[in-house]
Amino acid sequence: MGCGRRRVLRTSVDRACAGLAVAFAGLALTGLAGAAPVQDSAAIESKAHELLGRLTLDEEIELLGGIDSMYTHAAPAIGLMRLKMSDASVGVRNWGPSTAYAGGVALAATWDRDYARQLGESLGNDARARDVQFLLGPGVNIARSPVAGRNFEYLSEDPFLNAALVVPYIEGVQSRGVVATVKHFALNNEEYDRHDVSADVDERTLREIYLPAFEAAVREAHVDAVMNSYNLINGEHATENGFLNLEILKGEWRFAGILMSDWDATYDTVAAANHGLDLEMPSPRFLNARALLPAIDKGLVDRATIDDKVLRLLRVALRYGFLASAPVTSASTEMPSSTYSVADRGVALRGALESITLLKNDGPLLPLDPARIKTIAILGPNAYPAVTGGGGSAFTQAFEPVSTLTGIANFLGPATRVLYDPGLPSMRDVFRETRWLGPVTMATYRGQHFAGRPQPTALSAIDNAPEEGLTQADPAPRSVRFHGRYQAAVAGNYVILATASAWDGDRLELKIDGRPLPEPMHAEGQIAPSWLLPLAAGQTIDVIADYLPHFAGLRCGVGIAFEPDLVSATAKRFAAAADVAVVAVGFTKETEGEGADRSFALPWGQDALIEAVVAANPRTIVTVTGGVGTDTRRWLEHVPALLDLYYPGQEGGTALADILFGQHAPEGKLPVTFDRNWEESASHHDYYPAAAATRPGAPSHVRYDDALMVGYRYWTSTGKHPLFPFGFGLSYTRFKFSDLEVPAMASSRTPLQVTVNIANSGTVAAAEVAQLYVSDPSAPVPRPERELKGFAKIRLAPGETQRVSFELDRRAFSYWDKNTHAWTVSPGQFVIRVGDSSEDTPLTATIRITD
Ligand code: BGC
Repeated sequence: MGCGRRRVLRTSVDRACAGLAVAFAGLALTGLAGAAPVQDSAAIESKAHELLGRLTLDEEIELLGGIDSMYTHAAPAIGLMRLKMSDASVGVRNWGPSTAYAGGVALAATWDRDYARQLGESLGNDARARDVQFLLGPGVNIARSPVAGRNFEYLSEDPFLNAALVVPYIEGVQSRGVVATVKHFALNNEEYDRHDVSADVDERTLREIYLPAFEAAVREAHVDAVMNSYNLINGEHATENGFLNLEILKGEWRFAGILMSDWDATYDTVAAANHGLDLEMPSPRFLNARALLPAIDKGLVDRATIDDKVLRLLRVALRYGFLASAPVTSASTEMPSSTYSVADRGVALRGALESITLLKNDGPLLPLDPARIKTIAILGPNAYPAVTGGGGSAFTQAFEPVSTLTGIANFLGPATRVLYDPGLPSMRDVFRETRWLGPVTMATYRGQHFAGRPQPTALSAIDNAPEEGLTQADPAPRSVRFHGRYQAAVAGNYVILATASAWDGDRLELKIDGRPLPEPMHAEGQIAPSWLLPLAAGQTIDVIADYLPHFAGLRCGVGIAFEPDLVSATAKRFAAAADVAVVAVGFTKETEGEGADRSFALPWGQDALIEAVVAANPRTIVTVTGGVGTDTRRWLEHVPALLDLYYPGQEGGTALADILFGQHAPEGKLPVTFDRNWEESASHHDYYPAAAATRPGAPSHVRYDDALMVGYRYWTSTGKHPLFPFGFGLSYTRFKFSDLEVPAMASSRTPLQVTVNIANSGTVAAAEVAQLYVSDPSAPVPRPERELKGFAKIRLAPGETQRVSFELDRRAFSYWDKNTHAWTVSPGQFVIRVGDSSEDTPLTATIRITD
């Protein structure tokens, strides 16, 4: 809301606005709403101090906390309106439908700085169209492990790639007069126990792997806001971490903007106030007058510390023009951007086309010739409706998302028969259709200990509507025990599916024949945990589900099904009748999103669906949606074609059809190593804390013993090979790399050029990503075998050759010296490798680097 909306403003605000219109008339050095911010200057500095001087301490403190979940507080005395925020990982999420782009990990899969810039500009325009001043993105945490619940919102496993993309993205957003907020500072690399987990990491790993993207955001892109993460770092919450916030961010990197908390990620008044936090979101539970005034009186917090926080907000407001007379509303002189933007649809399509990654293409099956397809089967739970993005605060409701089904059908037109079936039942169908041996008893006990005399009820199913509305916490605690028996009709694998609203605090524990089923660690609420249990024909199992409801009502379900029976007969029939089958599987906003990690395995039933479809039709193409890798072991060798869609945004279906039918050669490259199984990931052994937190609020520690060995750094250093390496992605053409030129010797003090020829030796136009890796075999400390230090995306017509140039600066050769606490180059022989994945680098040269 700004000064323009007079009907809802108090008169004092009106007066202040009118006064400011006069006051700022001559101050051309401040920003103009809607335009790129102006630089900091003496004029801004003195104006900020003058405004500060007009605020009382109480008014200052009010500015340190958010209001109404997505706004900063207003300061009517100086005409500062509250400033509006929105999440932004894949689109401007909070204020009605918007454009949903291929963002996060999909952006990283494009390896395209130009797209990053365009995406930033479009997000900036979308924000302005909704009067939003702060975009709460981009997220740049490292994809350390495939199961981390927010990988899809972040970028890649590589600090150089993240830094290279985040700079144009932020510059794009901020060029539109909107503040970008780089998040989550720092080390939010898992969702497990996210408020209480401590990422314990050594300084070299921190500097080389986890901080470079934040550093580039601050030092190169001049981002004006940073968001602290929920987790602790080396035992201190991010919002209280003086080393990260004061020494590094505000000290070394000279960050001049606003450091805000994540939503309810502030845990202490004095520690947060003194260790760099400027703005507590979404409301001041700790940074409020009640807590801060006595702390100031006692000398625990300096007044100057409060002033510094407010000055930061004022400087940003002045530089962006948020403080001018009619600053930020559609009533301002600025023309708002288009709310429904056809141009942005083009940007969303570009992102999807550039990110979708072809991982396998035996035959080659792809591209398909549309003229030869009379019938196509489009199957799987993710075929329709469109799966545009993961869940949580990243999810953006698109106006008109295009699903895999509708994208392909629209491409093929009326002459092709399209057969669609989701292939699997819903979770509740499984609960309802479980054939228990006799009735299930439900016994409800007073208290949470299954003690006393319960009143049993006979049921035919355990299906207590997980989507039932929440009511207030149950005043009378209960425990509920379900007891049923199940008999396997035939021998084979049975899926046990169970869900309780753990997100809301319910707990559900399953025992089969008296033995508890292990609770999967990732099952913190969103994905329904499932187990695969081999049973003999006629075997009977005794199932007990102990349920502790947190709220009034019941929100749990348990079901059992013979795995092959989950796959619908229709899907198999359609697959057999079609010329080609597309199976769309993977995660969705319900099964992957913040607040919980996700499984490495595909959600229940999907492996069986793929197996059944490919058995019915060998011309099967599998598409997977999800943050990063998943377990493909059960079916990959039988399936000729596999595409990773990440989350492709609202135009995913159109882009996929263009790629499948050869309108566009695939060009996405994996921004994250695709492991065979989760156990072989370098982070697997130290992903979950060794011991759980001893009491609520006490940290549980995860030691980053994998240190620098994240993703391809681990694989290339050990000489082992993952399923699909970082940087890998197939095309419909062939590229040839040649004529690598590297100076024989160079000083690390001046940037040097490396050049290479890339030729398209195939028959279709396509894009390629040339990747440059540096090795430092003579370093006095162990270094990863190779590290990405350059990349270039080029588009080549068939037969065309281009010379590509990379610039390598001192950082390209440096490591963090833990003794001197500084970036260091060890002079000597370095190896430069160029190719199109971390494992396929056909060109190699050496260079002698002097200091
Ligand atoms: C998320 C942030 C987000 C905020 C506001 C939090 O739960 O962690 O990334 O910006 O909500 O929606």
